[in-house]
Amino acid sequence: MSPTYDVIVIGLGGMGSAAAHHLSARGARVLGLERFGPVHDRGSSHGGSRITRQSYFEDPAYVPLLLRAYELYEEVERATGREITTLCGGVMIGRPDSRTVSGSLRSAEQWDLAHEVLDARELRRRFPTLNPQDDEVALFEAKAGLVRPENMVAAHLQLAGRQGADLHFDEPVVRWEPYRDGVRVHTAVNTYTAGRLVICPGAWAPRLLTGLGVPFTIERQVMYWFQPSSPDGVEPFRPENHPVYIWEDAEGVQVYGFPAIDGPELGAKVAFFRKGEITTPETIDRTVHDHEVAAMAEHMSRCIPELPGTFLKAATCMYSNTPDEHFVISRHPAHPESVTVACGFSGHGFKFVPVVGEIVADLALTGTTAHPIGLFDPRRLAATPA
Ligand SMILES: Cc1cc2nc3c(=O)[nH]c(=O)nc-3n(C[C@H](O)[C@H](O)[C@H](O)COP(=O)(O)OP(=O)(O)OC[C@H]3O[C@@H](n4cnc5c(N)ncnc54)[C@H](O)[C@@H]3O)c2cc1C
Repeated sequence: MSPTYDVIVIGLGGMGSAAAHHLSARGARVLGLERFGPVHDRGSSHGGSRITRQSYFEDPAYVPLLLRAYELYEEVERATGREITTLCGGVMIGRPDSRTVSGSLRSAEQWDLAHEVLDARELRRRFPTLNPQDDEVALFEAKAGLVRPENMVAAHLQLAGRQGADLHFDEPVVRWEPYRDGVRVHTAVNTYTAGRLVICPGAWAPRLLTGLGVPFTIERQVMYWFQPSSPDGVEPFRPENHPVYIWEDAEGVQVYGFPAIDGPELGAKVAFFRKGEITTPETIDRTVHDHEVAAMAEHMSRCIPELPGTFLKAATCMYSNTPDEHFVISRHPAHPESVTVACGFSGHGFKFVPVVGEIVADLALTGTTAHPIGLFDPRRLAATPA
């Protein structure tokens, strides 16, 4: 048995790679253990783009974390030379009383974030690809845009490696347990001990965190890429001309999408926010079916008529949902001295990746953090005994 580490990080996807970076930057001897290869497409952190925004409709409590995440995007960009963000602006569209619009406005006003409210006419004028209903409005945020998940994960792994972290790929963790003052982690090929354990398991949370008491559900999601049919080709959809968008219809269905960031061949990506089937990482159907493509094309033809020109490709991904769709970031209630968890990101975690890495490093190394994380305590979700 051995060697021994200060901290073992289980899972080197979005959150775990950021944790490995922040922990090793503070001088901790870190071992990262990942089931698949570096920057893989089997979890939740692939597909080329993720929306980022600050006027957060989910809850104003996320805003201070977003302000810090934006600072860290720049640090990671500077330290690695990788392109992490494209801040092309974003519109949150819906009826004025929709959660997407009213929640975004609430956060913008509470935190004094720069924003504009556009009526349907003004929205059509500013962004001619968009075709809102007359009773729809939009909150426009110039600082919204997208982050590139593969580049972010690669950058954090690169920084962690540079700072001396041992990163083991294709080495799944079978189980972990408290051991003396710390933890012991068993993989398919070895056993390791450490003073502290950080668990960032993504969609494998139900397997690795049975003792947490959080009823996670894993949701299958599909991302679609279309070649727009506009007479000017992809030009109106380029990030210089086109914002990211989240669009809520009268039934509360949210769809979101991106400009054409990778040139004409790869088109523009769009997806439903939620609405997916419940699944598991072992049983997820990775085939995208014709009826799913047709349903998306039909939905988009009302919002952005030129977008569903030619279907190019689709890919699946997983959300790890908590019942209230807020994150879990905390010391483990049953092992508060030695174990920190970051999970249940409920389909909206990627924009927070660097700040989650910072928070997890705080919790693992000092037991506390200055960041406001009260909303993310797992005890709010633990099943109460009958
Ligand atoms: C289609 C889609 C669209 C999204 N859009 C947005 C968006 O626009 N904006 C946004 O902010 N967020 C978005 N999200 C959510 C965001 O991508 C996730 O919240 C985030 O990627 C979760 O990161 P994670 O580290 O928890 O999971 P992952 O990146 O999946 O990492 C978990 C890692 O743990 C590893 N692992 C699990 N079990 C073991 C084990 N036993 N041993 C070793 N390793 C293990 C896995 O292999 C994996 O690499 C989207 C998600 C999807 C699927």
